[in-house]
Amino acid sequence: MGEMDGLEVTDCTKCPELVDCRSRIVNGTGPADADVVFVGEGPGEQEDREGEPFVGRSGTILDDKLRDRGLARQDVRITNCVRCRPPENRDPTGEELDNCFPYLESEIEQVDPELIITLGKVPSQHLLDRDVAVTKEAGSIEQAELGGAVRDVLICVHPAATLYDRSQEETLDAALDKAAAMADGDSNGQSQLGDF
Ligand code: URA
Repeated sequence: MGEMDGLEVTDCTKCPELVDCRSRIVNGTGPADADVVFVGEGPGEQEDREGEPFVGRSGTILDDKLRDRGLARQDVRITNCVRCRPPENRDPTGEELDNCFPYLESEIEQVDPELIITLGKVPSQHLLDRDVAVTKEAGSIEQAELGGAVRDVLICVHPAATLYDRSQEETLDAALDKAAAMADGDSNGQSQLGDF
């Protein structure tokens, strides 16, 4: 019902509504050995069109904040709880999250990051397996067993939340500061300069 090739899901038909809605499967991007993995909820319209996570409005916010800290999106791994766009951008159902979880766990196991950052309520609750009041808890790091190891999970607001509530920007900034500290000097020896 689903197939993975390395970090990529190449074929999956587990969720009928998502199979109907999607134009393609949207896999994670970034280094296969990234120190930091950002986990969002699921692809929106633009992500579905381009086949890459966080390339819409929220992605611009994330990119800008990474760039402010000397990082490019290529320096970190960015993925989602579900890899297919839900109809009308509704939240993924529990069943859809469960269906996609083995792929996310496999990705986390293979990448073996030092830090996982959950962007918003859905990924925070999904990975910590409990109710999370994201606005209140943003910034806290909690351990969770994921992909064969106990890992640090940093709760963070969704980048789009800062559009509606400027006060949330501080917690996003703090999370990005942590990400930048961890991803520093990673992978290509000049990640500090990113795209410049
Ligand atoms: N929001 C998400 O949670 N994921 C994306 O890939 C884009 C927007």
